[in-house]
Amino acid sequence: MASGPPTVAQHLEILRRSSHADLLSLISQIGPELHDKLPRSYVESLPEVDQTICLRAALVLWATRGGGYVPREMQLRAILGDRHRQDVNVTAGTGSGKTLPIALNILLDDPAHQYITITFSPLKRLQESQRLEFEELFGIPTAVINDTTPRDPTWWNENVWNNRRKVPGRRRHLLVTVEQAFKSREGHFPPLYLLLRNPYFARRIVRVSVDEVHSVYTSGTPLYGLPAFRPAWARLPEVKALIPKSVNWSFYTATLPPHIRKVLIQTLIPSKDFVDIFITTNRKNLVYATHCMVKSMDELRNYRCFIRNPFVLDAQPHILIFVDNVNLTTRISSYLRSLLPSGLSGREKIVMHYNSQMSEEYLQSAHQEFTDPKGKCRILVTTSGQSVGVDFPNVEIVCNVGIPPTGVDAIQRGGRGGRQPGSQALFVIFHEPFANEIDLGEYKGRGIDLNDPDRPRNKLKTSSNRRDRAPYFMTQLIQSSECIRRQLNKNYLNDESDESLSFSNKWGLCCDRDHAFDHPEFDLTSLLPGQIFTLEDLEKSKAAEAEVKKTRNKFRPTAERGYLEYEVNKWLRATHKADPTSLVSQSAPHSFR
Ligand SMILES: [Zn+2]
Repeated sequence: MASGPPTVAQHLEILRRSSHADLLSLISQIGPELHDKLPRSYVESLPEVDQTICLRAALVLWATRGGGYVPREMQLRAILGDRHRQDVNVTAGTGSGKTLPIALNILLDDPAHQYITITFSPLKRLQESQRLEFEELFGIPTAVINDTTPRDPTWWNENVWNNRRKVPGRRRHLLVTVEQAFKSREGHFPPLYLLLRNPYFARRIVRVSVDEVHSVYTSGTPLYGLPAFRPAWARLPEVKALIPKSVNWSFYTATLPPHIRKVLIQTLIPSKDFVDIFITTNRKNLVYATHCMVKSMDELRNYRCFIRNPFVLDAQPHILIFVDNVNLTTRISSYLRSLLPSGLSGREKIVMHYNSQMSEEYLQSAHQEFTDPKGKCRILVTTSGQSVGVDFPNVEIVCNVGIPPTGVDAIQRGGRGGRQPGSQALFVIFHEPFANEIDLGEYKGRGIDLNDPDRPRNKLKTSSNRRDRAPYFMTQLIQSSECIRRQLNKNYLNDESDESLSFSNKWGLCCDRDHAFDHPEFDLTSLLPGQIFTLEDLEKSKAAEAEVKKTRNKFRPTAERGYLEYEVNKWLRATHKADPTSLVSQSAPHSFR
């Protein structure tokens, strides 16, 4: 036997075999930093065999992370479900630590069994950071499998499954995008598709976890006459039918409204004997508001309120602006940049956009500039596809431009704000005037499921416009005078917990609606860094334009110069592009100053 202190692997081996009494004595040896932080009343309410599992899980975590971390009740309940070979459904907020139960379940497995754990995760962009979490924090060798994974058989043999010897490869945890489990649209068979149909491989699978499981409905199901965005999501039951029944499934999401929960239970959780874990996703430190924009979302002056006026970099809050239209992300960010003082260094970095047309390098640098305490980016204008689930720890204001397509989107996007401990954030929906004009009585079109709160009025075509797409729940939320927190948490998510309506932030505010209790007056302007563009401003600017037309040589009001410069320079660039030999030079942008 090798001498020297035991390795983490040896520690885990000892813990997996220790008796209840041994585990208890180990915990008391470590002392109050572990003992007192365990959810004791929960653990003590369990039969001894379950207590043993909880103590073991806590000690495994302690040994792996080198101390300091103790599992919470939600995590212990998920682990117990797995140990009892029950399916587990966890609805809990993003910050609740979903990685932990999956990691501890893997660490509690006896390595001699050579089990394989599969985790389906929706976003390719996030897989790499999830892999690092599993490997660096828990020492679990994890393979990322998506459409860019090499098809090279040597890699697969070494890392995932050794076909000749019929044994698992080096990495026992596979982080997979759902599409890899099915034949591709082009008729290719991804390597994982073949493995799932290989009985030797299938027998080694011990558990399957599904992250962001609401995607089964929101991405996988054809809805309202439109094809599914990612049909593979709705085909997970096929995977369930392929692999042994004994495999444990666990499902995670922060947003499971009743209509999606019903679909999940019908398709993926046939046994009534599953562990159902719910923790409120109410974000106490968020303040909610809606704001009606002037004219439409294309009127860029609606966004000027996001730039601090006068501009001071250190005082400018970090703002995340969600836009469902890729072109508009570019236009909004260019416009906001044009409002910055000219001559400011690193101007182009202060407002950045984040969408699928940008290169991976650009996206990474935008993320870095936005999240790094020394970074310059203060405003990130993003499409949701690019950034849902991406960690932006320091956001003080989240704005959704237009009506969010679903309540799930609204909650997920708003939830990007105030993620730093002790921080708070505003979530504001900037909607267009038409949202107030829609008749809610019209939401009963033919062939539309009336139990779906996100339904449009009638079936949609790909060419349907924003007004046609306006979903019931969010339109009603905008029109209603009812508390927004109540509408999102109780009416939409059916959260009946005591904490679903509580709030706590430095403003002492819940949302911009009236409440029965005493509260400070809500003033959106005081929560935004710049001035809101109003109908009155629009009238004034029209009058000023008319005046300028009359007296040609008159100067523009200084406040508008930034935007004018931007328009003129855009024209200069376009002219140069159309005819590079013209006298208009691209290298000398025009300035009014
Ligand atoms: Zn409220």
